[in-house]
Amino acid sequence: MKSGFVNIFGKPNAGKSTLLNSLMGEKLAIVSPKVQTTRHRIKGILTGENYQVIFSDTPGIIEPRYKLHEKMMQAVKGSLEDADVALLIADVKDDLAEADEIFSSLSLTVPSLLVLNKADAADPATIQKATDFFSGRDYCREVVVVSALKKTGLTRLMEIILSWLPEGEAFYQDDNLSDLPVKFFVGEMIREKIFYLYQDEIPYHATVLVQEFKEKTTLTKITADIILQRETQKGIVLGEGGKMIKQLGTLARKDIEEFLGRKVFLELFVKVRPKWRDNDTFLKEYGYN
Ligand code: GDP
Ligand code: MG
Repeated sequence: MKSGFVNIFGKPNAGKSTLLNSLMGEKLAIVSPKVQTTRHRIKGILTGENYQVIFSDTPGIIEPRYKLHEKMMQAVKGSLEDADVALLIADVKDDLAEADEIFSSLSLTVPSLLVLNKADAADPATIQKATDFFSGRDYCREVVVVSALKKTGLTRLMEIILSWLPEGEAFYQDDNLSDLPVKFFVGEMIREKIFYLYQDEIPYHATVLVQEFKEKTTLTKITADIILQRETQKGIVLGEGGKMIKQLGTLARKDIEEFLGRKVFLELFVKVRPKWRDNDTFLKEYGYN
């Protein structure tokens, strides 16, 4: 039996959430074309006949501009310390030198596997060049080329991970997909739809707080607050005659129903909390601690 912790690191948009989802075969981490949608350490637990891998999808590596960002960076460093294997994921077409700088600066002590992602969108010469570039690096024990989206290279990726993991018993019961509460994933699904529906600063200024989660006989009743920074953003989120929030509610509800496997009654409220991103109490209340 092999078991251990595998943490996924990489720049925003490299494909960390997509990779985690593909490996897990369930929609656990939220995916969006915009950056910084993953603020928490999400753990997916993959249990096989003779292994258990606990994955963590870390926030993107960014400069600590706000207090929120500082906490995100702390989360990145925190995951560094308790991993058995690090997956350093880079978009194969990205600026290689920049990725190299970030990975070197982490000063990793755990074995790291360089995952070159988005192979489906690159030509063989680009892939070869990137493979050669990273192969010689100190922090890189091996390179694997994958497409998280098209699910190619993942068997090889798992083989390498399993060969590097220590022997040990499973940490979690095998029906646990994740150790985060369902409420958290519900909040993340609503937040993902905010990223799809609204433009500019709205997604970055919004957070979601699930207030009520009640299992009734025929459905699950969920109440959530969408917390915004400014009064002016409220009108945008609601839309004309509540058109936008209605659309948000419908999209989110469909996803949540699929995730929970049962009918959902979803109620959304929009609230304004000025400067929540710079306020320690709010950050704690919203789970960023
Ligand atoms: P994260 O910020 O690192 O978690 O990145 P995401 O997983 O959210 O992915 C960012 C964007 O890249 C999304 O639009 C994904 O659909 C896209 N993406 C991720 N993996 C692949 C891949 O293997 N191939 C292609 N073509 N796109 C991908
Ligand atoms: Mg992500």
